[in-house]
Amino acid sequence: MAVINERVEARYYERDGDAYICGLCPHRCRIPVGSYGRCGARRADEDMLVAYSYGKVSSVCVDPVEKKPLFHYRPGTRCFSLGGVGCNMSCKHCQNYAISMLPSGKKRTTYERPDEIVALCRKERQDAIAFTYNEPMIWFEYMLDVMKADPDLRCIVVSNGLICEEPLKELCKVADAMNIDVKGFTEDFYKEVCGAHLEDVLRSVVTVFESGVHLELTYLVIPGYNDSEEEVGRFCDWVLERLSEDVPVHFTRFYPDNQMMDVPWTPVETVMRCREIGMGKGLNYVYVGNTLTDDADDTYCPECGTAVIKRLGYLVDIVSLDGDRCSCCKHKLNIVR
Ligand code: SF4
Ligand code: SF4
Repeated sequence: MAVINERVEARYYERDGDAYICGLCPHRCRIPVGSYGRCGARRADEDMLVAYSYGKVSSVCVDPVEKKPLFHYRPGTRCFSLGGVGCNMSCKHCQNYAISMLPSGKKRTTYERPDEIVALCRKERQDAIAFTYNEPMIWFEYMLDVMKADPDLRCIVVSNGLICEEPLKELCKVADAMNIDVKGFTEDFYKEVCGAHLEDVLRSVVTVFESGVHLELTYLVIPGYNDSEEEVGRFCDWVLERLSEDVPVHFTRFYPDNQMMDVPWTPVETVMRCREIGMGKGLNYVYVGNTLTDDADDTYCPECGTAVIKRLGYLVDIVSLDGDRCSCCKHKLNIVR
């Protein structure tokens, strides 16, 4: 593995006196020369804004695609998963805080050039690469260069959705599938718990949906914070109104971590109730996460009710699919094979 580092110029920024304004995400940080942006991934040098986390890899793993979670994108396959460092949100419950919250320079990473990382992916016999673990949007330049190094690889992005419109549209041209967190459905929750704005995330979700990239959503249900039936219901209504009844939604259980150790695990009944709310409103594919269930993670044909994919944890059994159609009634499902 190479140990050489290089200085790569950031995209989407402008000079502002003795500082730079970063335009990659809606924070639009003003970064004085010698400092870092809020995400830790951009450094202002005298001559340019540097994509400081470029190529700095903190985690590599081959995961089931269901772990992202993506239940409707090449079900039963695996993907080469990569994480960097830093994040543009500051969620109090972050489960990856060791890599997301430290300033980039202090986290131990390995420098991997794009051609080296795709070679590693191919060596592992994987044909899909997932940018995940910390926040990949702040790894923008690296993601694009990795995909350019091997355009035949499928590109999966697991994100908090906090990115400006223009770079997101650029990324959508190379991405095949995304899972975006909608972490709650009130501005207060986003402001107080995540350090971001709900509206910015929803705008990204719509952009990804309209671009045609396969999209799934994750809503981490935190007791007492974002678990009211009214809030969950409004979120489901929004998915129906602005996206489609066919967008898969994952309600996952929270477990105590980071700065929210005093909050209990989400009861299984709560995520099951969220699923009921979503299905009751007309969403076709609603799942629960971080728990084992008998049948709540199976995929059913919305037309005839046949179970087409059965799941137990990451064990996947494709029982009644003919390509992307239900074997039973031939209804076309929102599933990419
Ligand atoms: S990407 Fe980072 S530096 Fe740029 S605006 Fe967002 S938080 Fe600030
Ligand atoms: S967006 Fe994700 S990685 Fe970033 S702080 Fe929140 S939970 Fe952690």
